[in-house]
Order: sequence, then C-alpha cells, then structure tokens
Amino acid sequence: MSKHELIIIGAGAAGMLAAVAAAQKGISVLLLEKMEKAGRKIRITGKGRCNITNTKEWDEFSGHIYPKSRFLKPAFYNFSNVQTISFFESIGLPVVIERGDRVYPESGRSEDVVESLVRHLTSLGVEISYNSKVVDIITKDSIVERVVWLKNGKRHEEVVKAVIIATGGLAYPLTGSDGDGYVFAKKLNHSLTKCWPSLTALMPRNYITGLEGLTLKNVDIELYVGGELVQSERGDIDFTNNGIEGPIGLKISRKAVKALINGEKVYTVIDLKPALTEEQVTNRIKRELKERGTLQIWNLMNLLLPKQLISAFLFNNKIKTETSVGINDEKTICLIVKSLKYWKIDLESYTSYERAVITAGGISLDEIVSKSMSSKLVLNLFFAGEVIDLDADTGGYNLQIAFSTGYLAGSEAAHLIEKSR
Ligand SMILES: Cc1cc2nc3c(=O)[nH]c(=O)nc-3n(C[C@H](O)[C@H](O)[C@H](O)COP(=O)(O)OP(=O)(O)OC[C@H]3O[C@@H](n4cnc5c(N)ncnc54)[C@H](O)[C@@H]3O)c2cc1C
Repeated sequence: MSKHELIIIGAGAAGMLAAVAAAQKGISVLLLEKMEKAGRKIRITGKGRCNITNTKEWDEFSGHIYPKSRFLKPAFYNFSNVQTISFFESIGLPVVIERGDRVYPESGRSEDVVESLVRHLTSLGVEISYNSKVVDIITKDSIVERVVWLKNGKRHEEVVKAVIIATGGLAYPLTGSDGDGYVFAKKLNHSLTKCWPSLTALMPRNYITGLEGLTLKNVDIELYVGGELVQSERGDIDFTNNGIEGPIGLKISRKAVKALINGEKVYTVIDLKPALTEEQVTNRIKRELKERGTLQIWNLMNLLLPKQLISAFLFNNKIKTETSVGINDEKTICLIVKSLKYWKIDLESYTSYERAVITAGGISLDEIVSKSMSSKLVLNLFFAGEVIDLDADTGGYNLQIAFSTGYLAGSEAAHLIEKSR
C-alpha cells in the first residue's frame, strides 16, 4: 500500500506551488528535495529580496516570456500574478510593488518567501523529505508506477498515482538544480531542446578592468550577430568583474550567448547619448569649446561622460590622452561624436551556468499539454518550472512561470488522482 498519492520532485518555487495546489484538494503529497532545505534558489533571488512576480497584464507580461509565451497563457490565467500576490498575502507575506511593476516581500527578505511557503505546506499536511535525491522514475505501459530516491545512502521506493518533475534547470547548480530533470525526461522518451545559460554576464574582447563597478544609466544597446542587428534595448548597464551585466546587459544575453555558442561573430554597439542626435552632440561639444577654449581631450570628455569611463573610452577608440581639441578640430570632434553614439564592443565569451540566472531551453513544449502541464507521452506525469523550455527576462517573470506552471501541474495531477479513486 502506497503512503502518498502524488510525488513531486524538487522543493523549489514550482514544486512547492504544485504541492500547495494538490494538497488543497485533499491529495496526500510527498515532496522530495535533494538539498538539506527547501527553496535554496528562491533564497538567493532578487539579490536576497526575491522579486516574486510582476504586476503587468498578460499582453505586456507575455512579451517577456520565451520562446513561446502562448504556452504559458493557460497556466498564467489559472494562477496569475494577481493570484500570486493574494496567495502570498493570505499565507502571511505582505508584498510591495516597486519600480518596473516588480513585486517583493514587504520584509525585503527572500528567506521569508520560503519560510512562509514551507509553513503553509506543513499546515496542509504535505510531507517534505529533505536530502532525498530522486534517482529513477519507473514506468509500465507509459504510466509511472514508482519513484526511487536515495536518502542518507539508503534506497527508498514508493508506488504513486502521479508524479510532477519540478527539478529546475542547470543555472546555479549549487542550489540543487543541476539537470536531473532532463535525465528523467529523456528516459521517459521526452525530447529536449538545446539548453544554454541566459541572463548572464557577457565578456568583451580585451575587457578593460578599469570599467568594473561602473553603471551607465539610460543608454541604448544594440546587439549584432553575424553583422546583423538582432536586438535593441534602452536602460542601464553594469560593468562588473564578469563583463557586461545590469538590466539590459542581461536582457541581450539570451541571444548573445546562443550566438557565441554557435560560433558566430557577436558585438554590441552602445549609444552613450541616446537622447541626442549626432548633430546635437556636435553642437554641445562646440558650445563647451566655445565657452572654455581649447581643451585636453580628457577634460572635454569629463564634461560628457562619467570619470570612470573616460580612460577606457579613449583607449577603446584609439584616441591619445594628450590630444587637444579646439572648436575648429572638426575631424577630432567628429571622431568623438561617432564614438559616443556608436561604441562598438566585441563580445568574446560569457559566464556559464555557475552564475547564470536562468536556463534557456529544456524539456520540449511540443510534448507537454499547456492546459494541464501533463506529459503527452506518459499518462500520469507532469512538469513544472524552469525544467521545461520556458524562460523570461528579469523582473519577476521567471518565478511567475514557476508558480503558474507549478500550480497548474498540482491541480491537474490532483484531478487525475481524484478520478482514479
Ligand atoms: C541568482 C538568481 C536570482 C534570481 N532572481 C530572480 C528574481 O528575483 N525573480 C524571478 O522571477 N526569478 C529569479 N531567478 C530565477 C528563479 O529563481 C527561477 O526561475 C526559479 O527558482 C525556478 O524555479 P523551479 O522550481 O523551476 O526550480 P528551482 O528553484 O531550481 O528548484 C528545483 C528544486 O529541485 C531540486 N532537485 C533537483 N533535482 C532533484 C532530484 N533528483 N531529487 C530531488 N530534488 C531535486 C533542487 O534541489 C531544487 O531545490 C533568479 C535566479 C538566480 C539564480
């Protein structure tokens, strides 16, 4: 006789919401987590503050989901960003909405998100087993029969009525998500689309370390792959020890990393003065030179750029620091204007899964029913969260994918179990 009707693999954002949905319907749930505690990844989200979701309406929200936002639509409408907020408030976690419609716990502590979820799961009677690494899912005639896991070196096995794979992707493997779900899915004949790290740092060729710590606010960035413009964004860029990051740096990383993996030539062009045309920048420079007379280039650039950027800017554009610029030095002024409007940076590499925020790619959406998150190949198998081929920009969208798909998978698994009783 089996103790539990449903086994959920992975106590991350998706697995915990799946457990909530199923337990609310009176299903006996066992949540297996290979780490020593739940939600290791949630604890490091949003720089320790956890950007739970984003309040944008679907039409705008969906523009941040890849590669097929319409796959998420049924799950989103079943458990939306609005429901996410009211759910967390109902379990004792008040939230606040900040810039960019981002939602955070009022306490500013991601730990509180996990703790309130675990408390709620316990109150619903969900059994959570830590240090329990699932190693096999056994099927018979395309139906899952048993789940096998190791706990403290001991093998456990349980017969179940349904299973949800919510094991996460490959990003930040130290949190426990290191690709086990793909192995199970493959064994169960599911196809995988190629995975790659996304929302990650991009390393320029000949990176000038003097840029580390610099933030450029409200600049334009264009991404070119094989000489063609593939993406344009406006916003903030951070230069770190890993290269280019910050909101729009991370945003272009999805396409940039994929292209670098494919061996394509990848570069970005940054417009440091997006609010001004070339003519307006020229006039601005000439105005300064008219007022101040001939200037050393460093002093001129000091009027136009953050200090920390000047040396790198001059080096990058092969402009000698001792150059003097007067109002009639058309050639130099033109070079400065072009360099300000079109700062080309060749990209060489990227930070891999060890520090990427999300995995792009995953279990193919073609073999999952979007209205139930169930497998099209194995009757009582469901998927949720980052393990499937869905990912998003930064801004709370990725956790909402996990919550929505988790909740739908849990409800539908419960529905299937109820029918079999
Ligand atoms: C640094 C960082 C910051 C982020 N910040 C945000 C943010 O602020 N907002 C946002 O929306 N998104 C953010 N994300 C992305 C977000 O955290 C993920 O999209 C989300 O956590 C995915 O949830 P998941 O449940 O699918 O996977 P995970 O959270 O990875 O959970 C999967 C769980 O499965 C367990 N597991 C794996 N294999 C097994 C096995 N064989 N047996 C048992 N258990 C197993 C793992 O240990 C893990 O606990 C961030 C990610 C990172 C890395």
